[in-house]
Amino acid sequence: MQEHIFDIAIVGGGASGIFSAIHLPKNLSKIILEKTNKIGTKVLLSGWERCNVSNMYIEDEKDYVGENKKILLSLFHHFSQYDMIHWLEKEGIKTHTEDNGRILLDSGKSEEIVKLFEKKIQENDAILKTNFSVNDIEKKDDTFIILWENWEKICAREVIIATGGKSFAQIGTDWWGYNFAKKFGIEIVEPYKGLCGITTKEDFSSLSWISCLVECNIYDKEKTFFKEKWNMLFTHFWISWPLIFHIVLKIGEYIRNKGITYENEIPYIKENIDVKLIFSWDNIPKKILNFPLFDKEKNEIILKINDFRSWKEAKVTGGGVKLNELSKNFESKKVSGLYFIGEVLDITGKSGGFNLQLAWSEAHTLAKSFFE
Ligand SMILES: Cc1cc2nc3c(=O)[nH]c(=O)nc-3n(C[C@H](O)[C@H](O)[C@H](O)COP(=O)(O)OP(=O)(O)OC[C@H]3O[C@@H](n4cnc5c(N)ncnc54)[C@H](O)[C@@H]3O)c2cc1C
Repeated sequence: MQEHIFDIAIVGGGASGIFSAIHLPKNLSKIILEKTNKIGTKVLLSGWERCNVSNMYIEDEKDYVGENKKILLSLFHHFSQYDMIHWLEKEGIKTHTEDNGRILLDSGKSEEIVKLFEKKIQENDAILKTNFSVNDIEKKDDTFIILWENWEKICAREVIIATGGKSFAQIGTDWWGYNFAKKFGIEIVEPYKGLCGITTKEDFSSLSWISCLVECNIYDKEKTFFKEKWNMLFTHFWISWPLIFHIVLKIGEYIRNKGITYENEIPYIKENIDVKLIFSWDNIPKKILNFPLFDKEKNEIILKINDFRSWKEAKVTGGGVKLNELSKNFESKKVSGLYFIGEVLDITGKSGGFNLQLAWSEAHTLAKSFFE
């Protein structure tokens, strides 16, 4: 019997995989292969389960890390945060903007958007197969043969890899997408953690649960390579919150740009990188004024990084498939018919809706290219 060949198979039913499936041409046969028993788990978790769907102030490259950030301009020009808001509104989902430009659902319930996705998948005649963990993919002539755990197979003319990053692995993500790209000779930037806390050499337990607005300078020996003012939180064992989450990404990017591998990352950081926290006089908490490491003249604390929190806590992954390996519609230049989108790519945003918007914009760009 002749084997059925799908026009397109999408590996990964997360933000980018789903959004591409619902925007691809209806007349193409398509299947989403998702490892876990449901789609959009990270979308559900975003914004403390209120779905932080995008950000109002996405405007330039400083909010993202990665080697080829210049593509952001055309990506957001093609499908911006305003396009996402309008698309949701057209589908009956209202949003509003909160602090730092975060766009959230009015309902305060992420399930609302996942239910919409389920409906749109059906409407666009995409087949969804859950509990389907892709083990390997081979290419024979112009057909991809997708093998899964039980060694059954699915064939497709084109394949979209939307398997996400390695972070937050407890919900099903791992190294698969990166290893698969390497197998096809596609270069990647070695993945690094993003949006997690930092453990420090100093004991901050006396400042535990103090949060404040701080200007942070990160420097390598004497040279500052990143500055930002945002909120942070001291806890017993580590420091956290959006400013610190962003610092972890920025240090990861800096380290990879220097050609330092994951293995040597922490030793290099311990030896060379320091973080200066500069407080503003008008909002400085009293306990900080009495903290032994607080420099009263400069109004600052210099802290030494001990480590980053685990991959399980990291909300995103930096690094991934290099963008110069792909054409404008995310097709591999080396393997025709093979596409990569989402967090598996070497472009990652800071906390606050920047990553989901990136996933929507990439998925939409790719899907629309099938109409050309
Ligand atoms: C706790 C948490 C909170 C977050 N909050 C926000 C937020 O508020 N705002 C924001 O913008 N971003 C947030 N993010 C980040 C955002 O969710 C991700 O950047 C985004 O979901 C990435 O989309 P993706 O499609 O690339 O990957 P994912 O959404 O991770 O989807 C990848 C999918 O592929 C599947 N998969 C993996 N390997 C295989 C395989 N071999 N076979 C089949 N399927 C496979 C996975 O099970 C998963 O469902 C958050 C992340 C986490 C973990």
